[in-house]
Amino acid sequence: MIRMPHKVFTDLAIWMIGLGLLMGIIFPFFVVMMGLPANQVLTPWFFVATMTAGFIVGGANIWLARKVVGGRLHILSNRMRLVETNLRACVQSGNEKKCMSEACNVPVDSDDEIGESGRAFNYLVESLALAHKTDAAVRSFTEMLASHLELDILVSQSLQKLLQHTEASAGAILIAAEGEMKIVSSHGIRTPDSLCNSDHVRRAMQTGTRVIVALPEDVAVEGILTDFRPREVLVDPVLYKGVPLGAIILASAKGFKDDAKARLDLFGNGMALAFNNALTHDRLQKLAALDSLTSIYNRRFGMARLGEEFSRAIRVNSPLGVMMFDIDHFKMVNDTYGHLAGDRVLVQVAKTAKLALRKGDILMRYGGEEFLAIFPAASKENALALGERLRRMVQDTSVLDGDQIICVTISIGVTSYPELEVTDELDLVKRADEALYKAKETGRNKVMMG
Ligand code: GH3
Ligand code: MG
Ligand code: MG
Repeated sequence: MIRMPHKVFTDLAIWMIGLGLLMGIIFPFFVVMMGLPANQVLTPWFFVATMTAGFIVGGANIWLARKVVGGRLHILSNRMRLVETNLRACVQSGNEKKCMSEACNVPVDSDDEIGESGRAFNYLVESLALAHKTDAAVRSFTEMLASHLELDILVSQSLQKLLQHTEASAGAILIAAEGEMKIVSSHGIRTPDSLCNSDHVRRAMQTGTRVIVALPEDVAVEGILTDFRPREVLVDPVLYKGVPLGAIILASAKGFKDDAKARLDLFGNGMALAFNNALTHDRLQKLAALDSLTSIYNRRFGMARLGEEFSRAIRVNSPLGVMMFDIDHFKMVNDTYGHLAGDRVLVQVAKTAKLALRKGDILMRYGGEEFLAIFPAASKENALALGERLRRMVQDTSVLDGDQIICVTISIGVTSYPELEVTDELDLVKRADEALYKAKETGRNKVMMG
């Protein structure tokens, strides 16, 4: 077994000088055997001379060993200390760049054990740097996942990080919602929507495993979706408890290294959990805001939106139109065709109203068969025209109940701020309601201005 003395070079010095002295003692006898006269050689002075020579050679050897081997070991220990200091600094500061630089490596200029230990040391530094890089990447990815709950922001930030940590040049994240795939975020892809129908994406989602499409340089590829020619395209399903929530698509011009793929695996679980939370949050937000029968805004959420729009109208000095409408003789519809048929009529009226409204208009179910619509930037005249359009559309729409056709009409009251001076949004709604009452009073199926 190799003994690990406290001072290797002192041990070596004792051995070398001892051997030198021994050689000095043996050397005169050797010379006598070679034929030189013993009386001239076996003298104290000759012994002193040969032993001194042996001592000097031993001493010179140890000096050389210290110079050649010790010098290398000195560099090695200095670099080890540097690596250790850098590692500590980078754990404390979180600055990954501080961690491992070229300066931490030792020069390898020999083919022997010293060279081999230098090479092994450099590999060790490389592995440490990689382990640290992975650790830092996972940490920053997890921090990002924990700081967002909105799906759009979460997905786009995840894509940025994935591109950065896998060195991919383009990518996209698709999420499966309401039975279809939707691109939520993409980078560097010309027509991201076409990815939703990709066979590779479908395969990854169905099998729940990674699909890697290699595109060898000598093979012609038609219709590349990126501005560069990818060497490898990777499609990873995002699985939460075995259920695919979506897919990640990454394209690399150079191909993916093993450590990039391993990093993607490490991100996978946390990402799926965060996506699932964001999807649940999204669904809850919608549930909290929507009326369960008609899927338009409910009164609570709709009125909050009206409050925001009213404040905005005052701030930017722009009109705000409001329309209140109510189904005529709806009680009779219920009594004649039943409550379920009545429900279908309500859904149909809401759908028709959504069609009649412009982008940016807000529609809510105000009460049982009463609806309120908000028209940002609409004057009384605009609101009146919109009301008239809707009145006619509802009149021309019917709902089938078996072989019976149910037709309904609506009465509408419209008004607009600031043509009508009101103190707050509730006042505006009250005036629209009064106009609606007038429409009912004067015959129904008509629009009145408040
Ligand atoms: P008017 O022309 O004066 O508005 O008459 P109306 O019959 O429509 O008004 P009334 O207020 O007398 O009746 C409203 C009816 O709407 C009574 C209620 O049962 C019905 N209703 C309210 N909410 C719902 C619902 O969610 N589904 C169904 N099927 N009916 C509802
Ligand atoms: Mg009614
Ligand atoms: Mg009513």
